[in-house]
Order: sequence, then C-alpha cells, then structure tokens
Amino acid sequence: MTAIEALVRPNIRTLKAYSSARSEFEGAAEIFLDANENPFDTGLNRYPDPLQKKVKHRIAEVIGGHPENLFLGNGSDEVIDLLIRIFCEPGKDHIITLPPTYGMYQVSASIANVENKKISLMGNFQIDVQAVLKAANEQSKLLFICSPNNPTGNDIRENDIRQLAENFPGLVVVDEAYIDFSNAPGCIDWIAEYENLIVMRTFSKAWGLAGIRLGMAFASTEIIRLFNKVKPPYNINQLTQRAVLETLENTDQKVKWIEVILNERARVQNELKQFSFVQEVYSSAANFLLVKMKAPDWIYQSLVKQGIIVRNRSKVKGCEGCLRFTIGTPDENDRLLNCLQKL
Ligand SMILES: *Cc1c(COP(=O)(O)O)cnc(C)c1O
Repeated sequence: MTAIEALVRPNIRTLKAYSSARSEFEGAAEIFLDANENPFDTGLNRYPDPLQKKVKHRIAEVIGGHPENLFLGNGSDEVIDLLIRIFCEPGKDHIITLPPTYGMYQVSASIANVENKKISLMGNFQIDVQAVLKAANEQSKLLFICSPNNPTGNDIRENDIRQLAENFPGLVVVDEAYIDFSNAPGCIDWIAEYENLIVMRTFSKAWGLAGIRLGMAFASTEIIRLFNKVKPPYNINQLTQRAVLETLENTDQKVKWIEVILNERARVQNELKQFSFVQEVYSSAANFLLVKMKAPDWIYQSLVKQGIIVRNRSKVKGCEGCLRFTIGTPDENDRLLNCLQKL
C-alpha cells in the first residue's frame, strides 16, 4: 500500500466507481445511442465530458500545472466535501483547521460527522507550526491552510507551509482562493515535490465567475484518481465548461480587474485609517480588508440601513471587534467611505 492509500478510508479504497456510458468508449464516434439522451440538438442535449479534458488542458496553459494533476469541482465547496469523504472515517478520523479561517472546512466536517481539531493562528495570524505538529496523530487526515487567509487577509509564510508538508502525517490542503490578489506565487509547483500536498484554487474570486461554481484542486495523479473515483460522474455541467473556456480566451480582463482592485484596496485602506472609530486596518493580500473598530455591531447595522452589507466577524475568536470589507468597484467603495464619514 502506498502512503496515500494508507490514508484513504477502507470503503473508498475498495470502491468500484460508477462507470458512465460516455467514459467507457475510446476513440471517435458519430452516433451516440449509449446514454438515453434526447437525440435532437438543443446545444445542451448531451451529457458533458465527465473529465472536462478541454477545460483542464486550457487551465494548465493559462494558470499552471498539468491536466493530469488537476481535479475540477462544483466550486471549492465540492473539493472540500470530497476530501473529507475520501479520507476521514466518521467518528474516528479528524481534520485540523487554523482559525480564524474559512467556515466551510468546519461545516463539511460536521455534515460528515468528522471532528475538527482547531489550532488557532498566532497573534500575527501566522501558523503555530509546533502546536499543529504536536496535535497531529495517525487520525489527522487533512490539514486545511488558507493562504491568503480568509478573513484575516494575510499570506501564510511559505516556510511554514513547507515545514508542514514535510512533517504533517496526513494531507496538507492549501486553499489559494485569493492568490491572484497576492504577491506570493502560490504552491501549485510544489505538488511535484510533496505527494501529500493539495492546492485549491477557484474561479469565484479574481476570475469573476462565482455564478458558474468551478473550483480546482492540483495534486499528485494518485490523489486526482481518488477524486475522480468518488465524484458524481457529471459534476461540472456543460454551461460551466463553456463559460470557463470563453473566459480563459480573454485573460486580459482579469488582469485589468485585479489592477483596479489592488489600487482600490490601497485607497480604501488609507481612507479607513483616517476614521476615529477605526482601530486597525490589517494589511491584506486578498480582495478584502479586515478592520478592527469601536462599536462594530453599531457600524454594521448603520451600514445595513444604508443598503451596504459587509461581513460582521466581530464575534469570531481572533477577530474580535472586526468587520470584513470586500473591495468593490471604485463607485461602491466611494459610497461605503461616504457612509462611514457620515457616522
Ligand atoms: C470564496 C472562497 C472559496 C471559494 O469557494 P467556491 O466554492 O469555489 O466558490 C474558497 N475558499 C475560500 C477560503 C474562500 O474564501
């Protein structure tokens, strides 16, 4: 048994995957009478490619990695859910998360009845590597690292991620949903080095495609095979595959958006610092700002009354007193700042 196989739940190790009609044949065909589809062309009458070959090929060209090291999920949410179902035996294994961080790791674990051991980030929002390694044991199947971290906005130190990839007994999952807004290069290239490393990206943030639900996982071919075995056969629908291929034809748009958002992030950060009720604007490598303030609930409610919704993180351990502001369009940011000015 390989080291990765040893981490897989026994029922998944022996699972015989569903074999879809379209994935059983190889080569070219003209007439498809295998999947009970409607034969009349609507543009959508056929099942989509279960392995999304064209999309993966294009993602490898534009974003990086190799198609055989890529899994696509119905949002990162599906990637997280599948990871837990592949590796964590309910009531026995656990995941480790590093709060304050993204809430879906906890939710997916809870749904699966899998324990989540929490090792808080330190005061500087970096990982207490020794504490993580001390808490880890044979039942620690997944460690979720979010970098840049949501909701704190900072990059996690590369050396800490490397140290954990080298010493954590289970798989290390680096969630890079916000990497396009960071100066850090991200860890996709490290998957050749660490067989237990999984890097998640998404089309929901910088790419402007939250509506199509498309998340990526970069990992060894062994881990990709496990994802493919467990996923629903047609998890990425045809409209999504079409839309992402279109977007990947015009990558200039994304570059321009990022430029605007980074300029706005700097501007909003500076302006927020001027308000007397703002205690700290944490520096951000993402498309949002975490801001510590006096009377966060009152400010949150006042903004709601003006039709502006921000994220209230003031009750979250490690983020006491904080609101999280997504960077909007220049006009939206102006309106936010005007509203705060009037308070
Ligand atoms: C927004 C976000 C995602 C994206 O999830 P999708 O399901 O791909 O939309 C993933 N991870 C983090 C930390 C996020 O904040």
